[in-house]
This record gives sequence, structure tokens and C-alpha cells, in this order.
Amino acid sequence: MERAYKKMTSHGSINVPVAMRRSLAIEPKDAMVVEEKDGKIIISPYNVRCQFCGTTDGVGSFYGKGICPDCARKAYEGLKGGRL
Ligand SMILES: [Zn+2]
Repeated sequence: MERAYKKMTSHGSINVPVAMRRSLAIEPKDAMVVEEKDGKIIISPYNVRCQFCGTTDGVGSFYGKGICPDCARKAYEGLKGGRL
């Protein structure tokens, strides 16, 4: 888990560090879910994006990262064929 210390603006906004946005493939204007739970605020992507091609269609999670079925198949075939 990464951690960052940020100050909230007078309008209630907080900037998400670029390293975290890149890690989760979050792009500008992506919808986010904001939840309050046990005294904490949890912000997560509304639609998880594929780390490789950027689609949000049919994306699943693999070790906490988004991957679409097409990219998962390409990665599997690459590993199987020794190309990766
Ligand atoms: Zn993909």
C-alpha cells in the first residue's frame, strides 16, 4: 500500500499522486467512487481500466491491476510461446 500526505483544498478537492494514478491506470475525468468506512475515506475507480490497452470493457482484476480478456489472452500466449 502506498501512502501520500495531501492537503484538501477549500473546495474539498484532493489531488491523487501521479504514481498512484499510473499504477491503477486512472486517467483524467475518470469516474471515481468515494466511500466513508470506519472513519476513513476510500477512493477507487468506478470502472477499472486495463493496464495494457486502457479499455474498461470486461476488465477484471489480476494481482490488484486491471486487465481485459484480450490482453490476458495475449499475455498468456506470449508466456506460453516464450516471447515474454
Ligand atoms: Zn487490455
